[in-house]
Amino acid sequence: MRETKLSAHDIILPLFVSEKVERRRAITSLPGVFQLSVNEAVEEARHASELGLQALLLFGIPAAKDDRASAAFAEDGIVQQAVRAIKQRCPDLVVITDVCLCEYTSHGHCGVTKLDGEHFHVLNDETVELLAKTAISHATAGADLVAPSDMMDGRVGAIRQALDEHGFEETGIMSYAAKFASAFYGPFREAAESPPQYGDRQSYQMDSANAAEALREAALDVEEGADILMVKPALPYLDILWRVRKRFGKPTAVYHVSGEFAMVKAGAANGCFEERAAVLEIMTSLKRAGADLIVTYWAKELAQWTQE
Ligand SMILES: [Zn+2]
Repeated sequence: MRETKLSAHDIILPLFVSEKVERRRAITSLPGVFQLSVNEAVEEARHASELGLQALLLFGIPAAKDDRASAAFAEDGIVQQAVRAIKQRCPDLVVITDVCLCEYTSHGHCGVTKLDGEHFHVLNDETVELLAKTAISHATAGADLVAPSDMMDGRVGAIRQALDEHGFEETGIMSYAAKFASAFYGPFREAAESPPQYGDRQSYQMDSANAAEALREAALDVEEGADILMVKPALPYLDILWRVRKRFGKPTAVYHVSGEFAMVKAGAANGCFEERAAVLEIMTSLKRAGADLIVTYWAKELAQWTQE
């Protein structure tokens, strides 16, 4: 008997929906991953559901960006359109939406910024207000869970309160409780078209050396009402995943990120190892380390592999 079992039910498929493409556009640094139109995202959702997957995580790429991320909370924003279309066609699929501003800000930061000479500050409270607004617009469109990925202080509590006040008590929050500043996010920024135009995100993401801080951040999210805790990236942070799962006993997700994906693709393409064996070993290690849910770009393949 194997102690650890992977199942399609544990896997979340990330999708990039773009207002700028009519036909799927390949993301060169993420082989096999595409930016999709709304119609294609619906098709992809239908396919995922047929394969036995139960959940999607949606990222949006708007046609226009500004310094206050207006497209993030627009009623006819790209994510809002995609959620409505997917829920109409696949009502049983759990639709999770990324809630952050970096795909929607002209400067690529996760919040509203203030420039001060050569330095910049992210304005926490103004950002949190816009994140809550974004979460409500996603819930209004039909999202089952919202996933704040920004790492601002107090955003989970603010989103919970805003959702409740608008009658969305049933809408859950999957919070990026421990999101580390990482070298492995590169390909994602191409996919989501969100590289910071100045500065970096180290002021609001965590230092990879800090485990106790990660647990403190996760504790705050639990207090503020998070339903699912997320650790990101995956393999370099298995110890954090283990500790978060043990400490809080909450459903815990892990995001196997773009750079981790690209690394395995490159290794397999160079004949270093066989892709499927490597992927199954990695995903099993994430389960073993406590992941209830895994966000991965291999979601569709895994749905098939775990059935064979
Ligand atoms: Zn962000």
